[in-house]
Amino acid sequence: MRLVDAAGHLPTLKPLLAAVRWLRAIPYIGSGRVCPICERSSRKFRRYGEPRRHDAQCAHCGSLERHRLAWLFIRNRTDLFDGSTKSVLHVAPESCLEGRFRKRLGTSYLTADLLDDRAMVKMDVTNINFPDRSFDSIYCSHVLEHVSDDRKAMAEFHRILKEGGWAILLVPITSHKTIEDPSITDPAERLRLFGQKDHVRRYGPDYVERLRDAGFEVEIVMVGELASADQATQMGLTPAAGEIYYCTKPA
Ligand SMILES: [Zn+2]
Repeated sequence: MRLVDAAGHLPTLKPLLAAVRWLRAIPYIGSGRVCPICERSSRKFRRYGEPRRHDAQCAHCGSLERHRLAWLFIRNRTDLFDGSTKSVLHVAPESCLEGRFRKRLGTSYLTADLLDDRAMVKMDVTNINFPDRSFDSIYCSHVLEHVSDDRKAMAEFHRILKEGGWAILLVPITSHKTIEDPSITDPAERLRLFGQKDHVRRYGPDYVERLRDAGFEVEIVMVGELASADQATQMGLTPAAGEIYYCTKPA
C-alpha cells in the first residue's frame, strides 16, 4: 500500500502544505521582483542560506538565484524549448525546474539522482549506465562539488552527450583556485575548508579547464549578457547567481 505520493508527502497533507506556502508568501506580496521561472511577482525574494543572502529565494516556487539564471539562459539562448524532440538528462533535479521541464519536454525528459528516490533513475555520475551519445542536452547544477572523482563525471557527461549537443554543468565558484584534499573526510573539516560538510572541494575559475580537459568546448556566460542591471535586480540575479558554463561537444 502506497502511503505517500511521488513527492514523499502524505496525500492528505497536500492541501495543508499548499495553504502553508500561500500563507508564507503573504509578506512578499508586491511588484518589485519577478521570478522568470514561475513568472510571479513579489515585493522581494526571501533571504536564504548561511550566511543569509538577501533577495535569494522566490516565495512562490522556491527558486534560488542560480536556478533563475539557468532558466533564463536555457529559455533565451538554447534550443531546449524549440518544440523538437530531444533527449534531455536532468541530474539532481530541482523541484522549481523539474515540473516545468517535464511539461515542455514530455517523455524525452529524464531525471536522475544517486540518492533521491523521486528521480526517475538512480545514477552515479562517475559510472553512468547509458550508452555513448544518448542525450542531446544535460543539465547538472551544484553536484560536482560533492563528487570525489569529478573529472570522471565530466568525462561521463561528455561520453553520453551526442555530437552537437550541449551540457550546462554548474558549480559554486568560491575560491581563487580550486582546492581539494581527498584525505579530508571529516564533515566538520570539510565544512571549514570547503564550505559545506558534504563538499569535497572548492572550485576556482580554473573549473573551466577541467571541463575542457574532458573534451568540451566551454562558453562562460555572465548575468550581464542575459539581463540589464535593472532586469537583474528585478529577477534577483545577484552575484550569488554565479555564471553559466555552457559546454558543447563539437559535431
Ligand atoms: Zn518563482
